[in-house]
This record gives sequence, structure tokens and C-alpha cells, in this order.
Amino acid sequence: MHRETESEFGFELRTCRWAEREWPPGAETEAKTETDGDDTIVVARQLGTKRRRWDTIVLECDPDALRRRANFGPDRLDGDLLHVVRNAPAEWTYYRDALPHPGYPWRYVREAIHRADDRGILETRKNGNRIEIRRRWDYPDWLERIVAIENKPDLDASAARALGSQLEYDVAVGLADEVWVATRKTGERVEPALLEDLPIEAGILALDPAALTADVEWYPRSLAVSESGTRILERPDGGPRDGSAARFEYVDPGTKATKRLAIAERAYERGWRSFVDTMRSDCRYFELRARDPRQALPYCAAKGRCQTAAECAGSCAAFEPEPPTWRTRGWPIEGGPGQRSQRVLEERRRRRRPGL
Ligand code: SF4
Repeated sequence: MHRETESEFGFELRTCRWAEREWPPGAETEAKTETDGDDTIVVARQLGTKRRRWDTIVLECDPDALRRRANFGPDRLDGDLLHVVRNAPAEWTYYRDALPHPGYPWRYVREAIHRADDRGILETRKNGNRIEIRRRWDYPDWLERIVAIENKPDLDASAARALGSQLEYDVAVGLADEVWVATRKTGERVEPALLEDLPIEAGILALDPAALTADVEWYPRSLAVSESGTRILERPDGGPRDGSAARFEYVDPGTKATKRLAIAERAYERGWRSFVDTMRSDCRYFELRARDPRQALPYCAAKGRCQTAAECAGSCAAFEPEPPTWRTRGWPIEGGPGQRSQRVLEERRRRRRPGL
């Protein structure tokens, strides 16, 4: 087993890379591998809502619309910006006549208009003391489906129990179109994950993180994303004799659509290679080690393994800054190896966004 993929974090990064190259699972892979995957797929990690964060997210996108999304730049559009750019008119119009009432004070809309103008994604002008706006581009309908994948390389019975209730939550809310569990392929006749008590709506993938191949052990059901969902707030946990009722609340389709687009925008901005942003790439022990021509995994020379994003932080006792001499050539234009690592990942992230 490769040391880089032993940890859950290393496994998760391999799942992301596999998804980028091979999604959708079970389809013919030869052509995709030759072109390094389908460029209408956006993969991100550790995103979701306040209550639920998914390990890996795959966005299936409309190819033409995804390319037009690039007009709005690599950064995400938050809810306020989306309200402005999605409703901006083709002709100059006073902003209060053009935009639907947002349900909050107009001064926040004005602030969003100025931000949109600064980012070059909206045209504005003054007419007397009135602000008029005009759209630069239509905001495209680029998101088709959201697929959530939970990574559990070693799915034992207790991990399956914890995961089972999270997946039940996902199925009940129906925010993602599909949910999957990715587990490490064991090669046994029946993959152990199939024997665990997971919701039947969730798909099961057996992934070989070294070879970067996966078998579909169970196909998921499509969830009803355009219908009301049920959010499980609390469930009875007092053992088999606990007869108390679970508590639920309903989530209407409009709220779900807004949340889905917010998640998609964050995924578009971050991709999955952004893990390096929070790691100490300026540490002398930080390395990127190539696992295939397009994937570099973080590696800590002090620990002798792939370190997690959580441990590779300011609090790491083994942290040592890069020696200044590493930076002398090209400094300050190129920076040291740490900055170079960040640039490599940033460039790869950008290449995965057609049109940027
Ligand atoms: S020593 Fe600590 S800070 Fe440095 S690369 Fe390793 S985990 Fe990161």
C-alpha cells in the first residue's frame, strides 16, 4: 500500500483525482483517460451546508454554460452577487426597477452592485443620483447535477453506523442528486461495504487508490432535488426502548435550489487542489510528490508520510521555515519551493475551468 494513500486524507485526494479523470463511474474510460477526463466535471472537497459537509463533490455541468460561467472569473459569486447578476437587465435601468426586492434592505444590494462593478461582471453608471445597471453577460445555467461522495477507506461496522445516519440525512433532504460511499477495494468476492447497513439509495464504489481504478458495487438512486426535502433535526438515540419521535423540518425546493447553487459556486472557486492553501507549504519539510503525471500529493519529510491538512498547520511542533538560501534564486519573484508548489496546484486548478 502506498504510504501517501494510507490516511483518510490521502485516500480522499485520490478519490478526487479519480473522479476528475473517470467520472461517471462504470462508463468507458479509455477516451477519458487520454484527454485527462471530461472537462465538464468540477471536483471539490469538504463542502456542503452548515449541518452537513461532504468529503468529495462532483459537479456535472452543461459544457457550453460552464465555459460561459468563466466570464464571471474564478472566484465564487455569493448570494448577493448572484441576485444582482442573474437579474441585471440588458438595457440601462435604475437598479431598483430592474431587480426584484431582495427581502433585505436595498443598501446591501447597492454594496453588491459596487462589488460586481469592481469585479468587472456588471456595468454601472450614475444618472443624477440614481445608480443604473446593465448586464455584461447572462449568468448561465451551468450546474446540472451535484454528486456527493463520502470517503471511508476502511469501512468497519462502527464507521458504517456513523456514516449510515449521515447518508440518511442526505437522502431525506435531497440536496445532492446522488450520494456515494467510496471505500478501499479489498478484492474479496463480496466487498465488505456491501454487508454494512447503509441506505440503499447510496451508491458504493470500491476504489483502488494506487491504480486509480474503481468498481461500482452498488448504483445509487437519483434523489428528488426539485421536490421538498426533510431535514432530520434529531433522532431517538435512547436505545431499542426509546419510543420518542424524531424531529424533522421541511426544506422547500426554492431554498434547496439556492443552496445548491451556493455550493456549486464555492466548488467552482476552490476545486480540490486548494488543500495547499491551508497547509504550511513554507515549511522546509513540505513536499509535493507526484502520484501520476497530473497529481501531486503533499508529503512531510519530517513525518515520512502524507500529512493531513489539519496537522500541517501553524501548531505543528515540527514546523521549520524554509531556509532563506532556498529562495535566493529568483527571490522575490519566484519565492521558495513552497510558493512554487502553490503555483503548480493553482495552475492545475485553473486548467480544470474551461474558458478561464
Ligand atoms: S513538519 Fe509539520 S508543518 Fe512541516 S510539512 Fe510536516 S506537517 Fe507540515
